[in-house]
Amino acid sequence: MINEIYDVIVVGAGHAGSEAAAAAANLGSKTLLITMNMQTIGQMSCNPAMGGIAKGQIVREIDAMGGYSGIIADKSAIQFKMLNLSKGPAMWSPRTQNDRMLFAEEWRIALEKTPNLDFFQDMVKSLIIENNRVAGVITSLGLEIRGKSVVLTNGTFLNGLIHVGDKQLGGGRMGEPRAFGITEQLVSLGFESGRMKTGTPPRVDGRSLDYSKMEEQKGDENPKNFSYLDNPKLTKQMSCHIVYTNETVHEILREGFDRSPMFNGTIQSIGPRYCPSIEDKINRFAERERHQLFVEPEGWRTVEIYVNGFSSSLPEDIQLKAMRHIPGFANAKVFRPGYAIEYDYFPPTQLHHTLETKLIENLYFAGQINGTTGYEEAGGQGLIAGINAHNKVHDKEIFTLNRDEAYIGVLIDDLITKGTDEPYRMFTSRAEYRLLLRQDNADIRLTEKSYNLGLANEERLIRVQEKIDKSNQLESFLKDTSLKPGVINPILESISSAPVDQAYRSAQILTRPNMTLEKLEEIDFIKEVTHQYSTEVKEQAEINIKYRGYIEKEKDNVAKLTRLETIKIADDFDYDNLKSLSAEAKQKFNKVRPKTIAQAARISGVSPADINILLIYLK
Ligand SMILES: Cc1cc2nc3c(=O)[nH]c(=O)nc-3n(C[C@H](O)[C@H](O)[C@H](O)COP(=O)(O)OP(=O)(O)OC[C@H]3O[C@@H](n4cnc5c(N)ncnc54)[C@H](O)[C@@H]3O)c2cc1C
Repeated sequence: MINEIYDVIVVGAGHAGSEAAAAAANLGSKTLLITMNMQTIGQMSCNPAMGGIAKGQIVREIDAMGGYSGIIADKSAIQFKMLNLSKGPAMWSPRTQNDRMLFAEEWRIALEKTPNLDFFQDMVKSLIIENNRVAGVITSLGLEIRGKSVVLTNGTFLNGLIHVGDKQLGGGRMGEPRAFGITEQLVSLGFESGRMKTGTPPRVDGRSLDYSKMEEQKGDENPKNFSYLDNPKLTKQMSCHIVYTNETVHEILREGFDRSPMFNGTIQSIGPRYCPSIEDKINRFAERERHQLFVEPEGWRTVEIYVNGFSSSLPEDIQLKAMRHIPGFANAKVFRPGYAIEYDYFPPTQLHHTLETKLIENLYFAGQINGTTGYEEAGGQGLIAGINAHNKVHDKEIFTLNRDEAYIGVLIDDLITKGTDEPYRMFTSRAEYRLLLRQDNADIRLTEKSYNLGLANEERLIRVQEKIDKSNQLESFLKDTSLKPGVINPILESISSAPVDQAYRSAQILTRPNMTLEKLEEIDFIKEVTHQYSTEVKEQAEINIKYRGYIEKEKDNVAKLTRLETIKIADDFDYDNLKSLSAEAKQKFNKVRPKTIAQAARISGVSPADINILLIYLK
């Protein structure tokens, strides 16, 4: 039925698969996206939201590279918030609340408009492997589809097992079948696999809730976009609501503990540490009298509500009984109970930085299959796997991002080098250069790289070049413009900053705590110039001036570490021969096979002494 030989076959159309397929196809690869159900392309399995702390930066990076997640999040947004504005710019993190149905629809529309991309609905059961190289896939209908490379993005579907109380159902998501065959084949080929767990809260009927008992949480007054392209911004937004659990809710939830798969030993696998179930929270933090919940709308045209923070795999009757004691939920009607799911993943130390597997050539893994959690983490990996699958079959250079270039680089390096035995999510604290990896400058960091690959289009490159030029212009203006005491002192006084007794450059004044460009714009001759620039340009210039010292310091540190990055270690290096290396270091080096000294140093359990021994030997 399908006689074509594809350059890239992507298995699974979740967040990783959709980005991988878009990247490979846009680069010019003849690409096939094969997924179990064409209705669930880009489906949000859990939270109807994109971005948030560190994850928002990843969405901006995907967008800067020419990926689709940011555009789709913008098109389906019902609320926008820039989180952490009270902290420094490294911490500012965009987040949208999304219309779940629209999100999936927009993904499908975007993919259908992508050139070189074919679709097929079927379940992949196994891979065709010839001479340790992947050569295609075999589906449950028995079709053999040939491809020069394959990207596996199976998410939570591999041998997925759903738990609701003491009931268990096979499935990859509630209502969707699980995928089988792939894990077993890969294990027989020598891959190591493991089990992880995640969970989701109940969804309720918004018409049955009393919002007057909850605290309203509106979106930002001036909503922004994820995408650097000039797309329309939200003109109206939907509110979320905040509410708290209480002792009665906890008491009722405890009644179900003996039927909880989490506590009676049925679920053995590890779940996301930072997204625990409500039963886990009341068990681990028994002293806490209440836990915060976010009541989030699922979209413009549906009454369905997502109860964020109430993830549970307790029996459905207990979930409902407890929920009815949350303020505003007395008459709550449940659309879908919460549940937990266990699934197979493959420890990511079995991958190269390109996300190609070390064991089978031209086979790539991206997303939850690598032990991560989150749409954004999945999308970022999908993009990199899609690019590299294309490059490999076209004999082009590999493409990777370093830790000082992108959160996506930090994510992949952490996975490949350290591995993960619990669902991995991104945090700003995982990045050592977070002042360089801001949400406002992802385009400056990445668009040119992506343009050179052939992915980001010329419009993006022109826009980013204009942004750089204009922000340089504005910085020069602020560095050159003096402010006399009579002009600036009233403003300094208004922010309780010491007055000046001589003229100072605007840029110098701007470096003071609490001083902002917006404040300086109270001076007419400043405003006359600044009003010609966009908000993005002003933000860029202001950050560059205010944080220059810190930014330069981080750049120095990057330069120092880059030196270690250039000291390469051969793939077949014999660690066992280095007698003085610790046993742990030998074991880890043999497993990870670091490509550089810097990568070796990042492996957990490797000491500076081990690195010194390696350095001396290599010298
Ligand atoms: C119940 C639940 C709760 C979750 N809770 C959270 C949370 O609290 N926080 C969080 O950040 N993330 C959560 N997630 C995870 C989040 O949904 C994933 O991280 C994200 O969707 C992963 O994207 P992905 O592309 O790797 O996989 P998925 O989005 O799972 O997509 C996998 C795709 O592959 C397809 N597929 C799978 N196997 C095959 C096959 N053999 N043949 C053809 N097609 C196949 C599926 O149909 C699907 O389209 C949860 C997921 C679930 C299911």
